[in-house]
Order: sequence, then C-alpha cells, then structure tokens
Amino acid sequence: MIMGAYFKDLFGGFWSLIVGLAITIKYFFQPVVTLQYPHESLKMTPRFRGHIDLVADPGTGEPLCIVCGMCQRSCPSGCISLKGEKPEGAKKKVLTAYTLDFTRCSLCGLCVESCNFGAIDFSKEYNLAGPSREAYVFDLLKRLKDRRSNADADA
Ligand code: SF4
Ligand code: SF4
Repeated sequence: MIMGAYFKDLFGGFWSLIVGLAITIKYFFQPVVTLQYPHESLKMTPRFRGHIDLVADPGTGEPLCIVCGMCQRSCPSGCISLKGEKPEGAKKKVLTAYTLDFTRCSLCGLCVESCNFGAIDFSKEYNLAGPSREAYVFDLLKRLKDRRSNADADA
C-alpha cells in the first residue's frame, strides 16, 4: 500500500514535469510578444485616445486651427487656452498659442467633436511621465512645430 502511494507520487511528479516542459517547448518556438520597453513601444490602435494635439495642414505644415475658440468653450474642464492674432493685411487669424492643461482633462473628446475644421485630434501618447503637475501643461503649438522639425530632419 505504501509502495503504491510512493509510485503514484513518483509518476504524478514526472507527469507534471512533462506537462510543464511541453508548455515551455510550445512557447519557445512561438514569436516573442514581450516588448523591450522603454526601448520599444507598442503601436496604439487607431481609436486610442491620448491627450489632444493640433493637426497640421499637410500642404503647408501650419496648424489647421482658425482660432474660432469652439474647443475652448466646449471643454467642460477648462483645460484649453488659446490665442491668435490677425497679421497686417491677412484675411484670417493665425494661432499664436495653444495650451492644454492635461491634469484636468477627462479625455471626453468634446473639444475634438466641436472642431469643425479637424484642427485637433487625439495623440497616441500613452507613456507620459513627469516630475510635477506643470509637466502636464502642454504647449501644443510648440509640439506641432517640433513634430514638423523632426519630420523635416528625417526626410
Ligand atoms: S475648434 Fe478647432 S479651429 Fe476652433 S479654435 Fe479649436 S482647434 Fe482651432
Ligand atoms: S478631451 Fe474633454 S476635458 Fe480634455 S481638453 Fe478636450 S474637452 Fe477638455
């Protein structure tokens, strides 16, 4: 009886070793899904909502924003502040400042929906980090210019 229990334990342990090894071998030959973050980043899905960003005119690289202020008025959290001016002789206002206080943003999307010019959209930023609240107050006009400079440098 004691010998029977001994062999049962022995074969039970051996079987669990075989099952474990089979799973290891199965995954060993499958493609690696682990990303070496922060050296590698995930590609976000098209509907992912990061903080908002200004959209540039593909032709000129300038912001599509016409400084109507609809996004600012529609934001329930008061996160957006913007400024514009009308240069001498110009027909339209030009955006001179666009700031987002992301510490108060709920990502509700009302600003994006209210913009009739497609001038703002959600970014794909998902791994933001900063030492203070001020680090989450974004100068979106500067971000747009930086993106343009980076694109020019890559070209
Ligand atoms: S609603 Fe659009 S066009 Fe109007 S100020 Fe906001 S981003 Fe600019
Ligand atoms: S997503 Fe909502 S809370 Fe955030 S800036 Fe736009 S309107 Fe405001």
